[in-house]
Amino acid sequence: MENDAWIIDRPSLGEYSPDCLRWERRASARPKEGEVLVKTLLISLDPTSRNWLKLEKSSAYLPLAIGSVMIGQAVGIVVESRSAHFTPGDMVKGMWGWERYSLAQPMFIERFELNPTIPLEAHLSIFSHVGRAAAIGLFEIGQMGPDDVVVVSGAAGATGSLAAQLAKARGNRVIGVAGGPEKCRLLINEFGLDAAIDYKTEDVAAALARLCPDGINVYFDNVGGAILDAVLSNMAIGCRIAVCGAMSQYDLASSNNAYGCVNFPQVLFRRATIRGFVVPDFSSRLTEFDDILERHYQHGQIRHRAHVVDGLEMAPEALRHVLRGSNDGKLMVRVASI
Ligand code: NAP
Repeated sequence: MENDAWIIDRPSLGEYSPDCLRWERRASARPKEGEVLVKTLLISLDPTSRNWLKLEKSSAYLPLAIGSVMIGQAVGIVVESRSAHFTPGDMVKGMWGWERYSLAQPMFIERFELNPTIPLEAHLSIFSHVGRAAAIGLFEIGQMGPDDVVVVSGAAGATGSLAAQLAKARGNRVIGVAGGPEKCRLLINEFGLDAAIDYKTEDVAAALARLCPDGINVYFDNVGGAILDAVLSNMAIGCRIAVCGAMSQYDLASSNNAYGCVNFPQVLFRRATIRGFVVPDFSSRLTEFDDILERHYQHGQIRHRAHVVDGLEMAPEALRHVLRGSNDGKLMVRVASI
């Protein structure tokens, strides 16, 4: 079978540029013992895709190098299997290459059943690393309790919007931080948050002080930088900060532009806990978080938005959306239809 793939041509340092990837047409590989050949339907484009393209050891989930096929979370169908755990026709999601046909390792994929009440895109936008990060960050890292005041940054994005909705579904007071009046309206009108702060036009620290007079109990951080600093000066005693991402620091033209938090001593004064996490840390407990997501989804308490770009060839260019905040929902590329 003919295959098309995006190959890493050079590390992407400084501001992201799509020409760090090159398009290659080549024959599709055949699975070796234990491997599975998957036909790709959807590929998730994530802020972390940008980080992986730096080819820094610390940000890599799997070893990537010049000449590797770029990888990401994806949804597809097994077309050939030499694994006892998968058969042709199985629907799968997990991690494999940015290519039409990809060899997947069984330890990085999972089977799922098609369900008429769950659109295919939701297997990237909710029932995926995105929803799992929202649930883990809120309940496991943030240890959210019933009376906690919760603040979420990147709140109109894929992960933030789910974390914010999960907290609302549990009855908590939730404040979202997002860029621009349209995204702030979305937070209130579509996701039902109690308040929204537009970090592009408002003084975030002053707005948090006004909206959270008794302090913030849980902060779900997607962005780091100046917004994290504003939260540090508005924490309640014993605040928990779940560091899910640091969007504001991923695509700097130079490391000299990195933001240094001046309010960090408040972690001591307010006896706060700040903890980073990645979803694979919880791989043995994923069904626990999936059950939470499924329950709230089936009760209509969490909504998802998918921003679907058509065509594998568009992937490197489309990745710019997540860095500019111009995606309207979980960003993904449609490679093929079922
Ligand atoms: P997304 O849908 O693209 O949302 C990211 C949001 O960040 C955008 O809506 C954008 O909205 C905001 N943003 C971008 N640059 C910003 C800046 N300089 N300052 C403030 N906000 C900025 O992406 P996502 O998939 O939800 O990912 C969000 C974060 O979660 C990322 O940092 C990602 O790495 C992380 N993540 C972590 C895990 C994990 O396992 N820890 C799993 C999934 C995702 P505005 O227009 O409002 O700026």
